[in-house]
Amino acid sequence: MSLTSLNTSIFTLIERYGHQNILFCHDKSVGLKAIITIHDTTLGPAIGGTRMMAYRTEEEAIEDSLRLSKGMTYKAAITGVNLGGGNAVIIGDNRLQKTEVLLRRFGQFVNQLNGSFIASLDVGTTPRDMEYLRMETPHVAGLPKSVGGSGDSSPFTAKSVYYGIKAGIKEYFGNDSLAGRKIVVQGTGHVGERLVSLLRKENAKVYVSDIVSDRMIEVANQYGAEIISNTSLYELEADVYSPCALGGTLNDTTIPRLRCKVIAGSANNQLVDEMKHSQMLKDRGILYAPDYLINAGGLISCYSELAGYSVSRTMQLAENIYDVTRSVLQKSREDKISSLQAANQLAEQRIHAMEKIKGN
Ligand code: NAD
Repeated sequence: MSLTSLNTSIFTLIERYGHQNILFCHDKSVGLKAIITIHDTTLGPAIGGTRMMAYRTEEEAIEDSLRLSKGMTYKAAITGVNLGGGNAVIIGDNRLQKTEVLLRRFGQFVNQLNGSFIASLDVGTTPRDMEYLRMETPHVAGLPKSVGGSGDSSPFTAKSVYYGIKAGIKEYFGNDSLAGRKIVVQGTGHVGERLVSLLRKENAKVYVSDIVSDRMIEVANQYGAEIISNTSLYELEADVYSPCALGGTLNDTTIPRLRCKVIAGSANNQLVDEMKHSQMLKDRGILYAPDYLINAGGLISCYSELAGYSVSRTMQLAENIYDVTRSVLQKSREDKISSLQAANQLAEQRIHAMEKIKGN
């Protein structure tokens, strides 16, 4: 790719996504090629995951980072935390190319931004990696508990999803009791297992599915859930479908098969085409609790780490997802727009309101 075509495509992309800043980080001596994108800092410093992946092209890495950082702006805004949206991608195979020196050099680039960007975890990075960044910069979140960080965020994510489910049930049925409600949890990993535990405590009838059958059987036995196959779960006459495995499960093929009333889960990017598929769900009368809102427990956990909040305060912030999800679903109903549009509009409203008192 020529420099000219790179320049053109980057500025076209920046204009499309509305970013403030992009930093290209390069150090041949340690094999570092990374991109930090800062989308919006109206509400506070831009927080964002550090994703390490072997992207096929540099354009793909740039676009991924621009998209993810914009998403983070919306997530922080709707969650009510005082953070902006950012992201970092390190180009490389995280199993083969991740070294201490590469991570620390990347940490030095983060430090150059003087706190306008805070690096946290994403695909391909671990709390241990954040420790290496921390050796070079204080602007890091998602550190292990042993070094004063917030540790595993999945209990908070499970809690925020649980409140998202309750808000969806309340909107659909008029009360938020989970007793006897049929809830399908797809994915029994870190978040899924904790969610199953919370749901079973309220006597919901829980169905679980996972591609790793040992794990699925273990969770089903431990919490008294029923196993359902990954293919037939879409057709189950359930009250809630909770995608907690991977993204893209709401698409042209699955949506017509769905028999559930509410969708609320932790997986990122559940809708293959956000606008089209959120509208398809609305047209089918299925309430969709936007993924980026109800899985915000992880972000809340990082925010608490930065603010020095206690676990109980962090849980309170996660509980707040109930009220926010209710407002989103109510706005979707009243304004006759999809819940995703409603969430986006509420996030934008908060940013625009704060612009008035924050300046640039
Ligand atoms: P995890 O890796 O611990 O669990 C994912 C589970 O999904 C695994 O048990 C895996 O076997 C299963 N799975 C994978 N593909 C599947 C498929 N096709 N069908 C059924 N099951 C399948 O991950 P996690 O931390 O529990 O996170 C779950 C989802 O929530 C992910 O999409 C993650 O990006 C998202 N998320 C997690 C957090 C967090 O705090 N952990 C925060 C926000 C979003």
